[in-house]
Amino acid sequence: MADGLGTIVVVEDDPNIADLVDMYLRRDGFRVVQASSGEAGLQAVERERPRLVVVDIGLPDRMDGLDLCRSLRSSSNVPIVILTARDGEVDRVLGLELGADDYVTKPFSPRELVARVRAILRRTGSTERAATAILEVGDVAIDVERREVRAAGTLVPLTAREFDLLTFLAEHQGLVLSRRQLLDGAWGPGWVGDDRTVDVHVRQLRKKLGSALSLSTVWGVGYRLG
Ligand code: CA
Repeated sequence: MADGLGTIVVVEDDPNIADLVDMYLRRDGFRVVQASSGEAGLQAVERERPRLVVVDIGLPDRMDGLDLCRSLRSSSNVPIVILTARDGEVDRVLGLELGADDYVTKPFSPRELVARVRAILRRTGSTERAATAILEVGDVAIDVERREVRAAGTLVPLTAREFDLLTFLAEHQGLVLSRRQLLDGAWGPGWVGDDRTVDVHVRQLRKKLGSALSLSTVWGVGYRLG
């Protein structure tokens, strides 16, 4: 089955890059739908209900990649991988704050992008964890199987990465974890990221879960949940 791994929407206005990404993802077993603008990307996501979206930050017209991330996040938890320019540190941080799950810096190797995509889908599509697990920390309840988080009983939408980070913290509640441990645990040991990435996601978790989340910053060390 050619589209056995599901559909990925690639939003990129540079046809050379779009075709290259398209080719590698197809070769890996995904079905690919391309869109060359933010508006077209949004429509494609609504129409195709993809498993993941690859979004270039630099898009033409009124809606750039960051706008698209914001729009997608207002209505969906679909995993997002952003493509940013090498000097696009601000874009990268903003993209993660807006809910992107990962990023790849241009120029990138298509293989690396496919590896990132697969890693995210492995995490988000995981059925390997304990089937009945509901982790509770204070007023936060994490349904590991359904990937749902409730704060004081109210469902709170999280990105895939935020969910993984929260789950990892909850699995080690009461322990102080360093940013490196959190990167290894929630992003995977091969992930090349800096501490700032963890801080960005922690900030998002605090914002979304508010006072239900008993997450302490341990200065000079890392974070502790519960
Ligand atoms: Ca572009």
